[in-house]
Amino acid sequence: MLNKGQSEEELFTFLSQKRREDLDHDFILSSMCTIPHSVAVRAHCMFMETNLGDPGLFPGTFSLEQLLISRFGTLFHCPDAEGYATSGGTESNIQALRLARVEKSGIEKPNVIVPESAHFSFKKACDMLSLDMRSVPITKDFRMDAGAAAGLIDRNTIALVGIAGTTEYGMVDPIADLAKIAVQHDLFFHVDAAFGGMVIPFLDYPTPFDFALPGVTTIAVDPHKMGMSTIPCGCLLTREPDRLNSLNIDTPYLTVKQEYTLAGTRPGAPVAGALAVLDYLGVEGMRAVVTGCMKNTERLIAGMETLGYTRAATPDLNVATFICGKEAVPGAWRVSWTRKNHLRIVCMPHVHAGRIEAFLTDMQNSRTR
Ligand code: PLP
Repeated sequence: MLNKGQSEEELFTFLSQKRREDLDHDFILSSMCTIPHSVAVRAHCMFMETNLGDPGLFPGTFSLEQLLISRFGTLFHCPDAEGYATSGGTESNIQALRLARVEKSGIEKPNVIVPESAHFSFKKACDMLSLDMRSVPITKDFRMDAGAAAGLIDRNTIALVGIAGTTEYGMVDPIADLAKIAVQHDLFFHVDAAFGGMVIPFLDYPTPFDFALPGVTTIAVDPHKMGMSTIPCGCLLTREPDRLNSLNIDTPYLTVKQEYTLAGTRPGAPVAGALAVLDYLGVEGMRAVVTGCMKNTERLIAGMETLGYTRAATPDLNVATFICGKEAVPGAWRVSWTRKNHLRIVCMPHVHAGRIEAFLTDMQNSRTR
């Protein structure tokens, strides 16, 4: 720590300089986060010092969290769903598996069935909870093989996981088939819709992935991805009210006597931001955002194929992947590469039509160089 404090001007000159070292969103094509919506930023600033870890001190902010959960419950066909705002998909996935683990605490060597395509947060969760993670192969269209998943279930299986919007290829697993399997085996079924939960409901032909399917136990959805909230904001929802209570820990000196959340201190600001976006845009506004992202994805795929780069998958959501050498992508652009070495571009709201055209032009120029 500095011995003597700096002047505000000095300090902010330093901070501005550091901020300028961050990349410009105009060139970020690899992220599932985006520039927050202006109403999210405004709401975030209003709730900056609120702490949902001690909700009795912030009853207004706490009621916004409840509203956010109830908005998602309704969107996901279960108005009575309960849950809370997490720090994102990782925490939601950890907590879902923790819940499954606690509910089946009698099993000595518990395992969970997870698709090969699952986000790496499941590895963290299994590591922390001492769960054996059984990986299910994906089919050639990059979706979880439901038959293979069923074949891996045994009496030590405590949960089945499906992904509604895979991180790498933007695919939706056969959630309806998996939900049936979960019902047949009386299994806890967690749907990771961290990315897809704010996309699928707004598509012209949404694939069933939510509580409308009887077998779905919990859903993770991240407002800080396609929901354009400020970071960090995820949500974990359970179909049954009070189900999270089995995770309760005594919290003697707070305004509540027990809590089931993973984090103690929890920011209210991004929760206000997330709710602000939902209520400002409504279903119509979100549909317009999602339609735009899907159109941009289609245009990117068509443009890349015209340049001779074959798509790796035909995505369900706004993630485009290509068979393409790393040297073909001009250095200014931040793209990512899947585990199978496919070029991956996420068409988030900040990746608007003009940026797609600029990228395609640069790709064409690099091809003809
Ligand atoms: N689940 C999915 C499907 C994701 O795509 C991601 C992140 O991209 C996560 C979980 C983890 O989310 P977070 O980074 O917000 O913890």
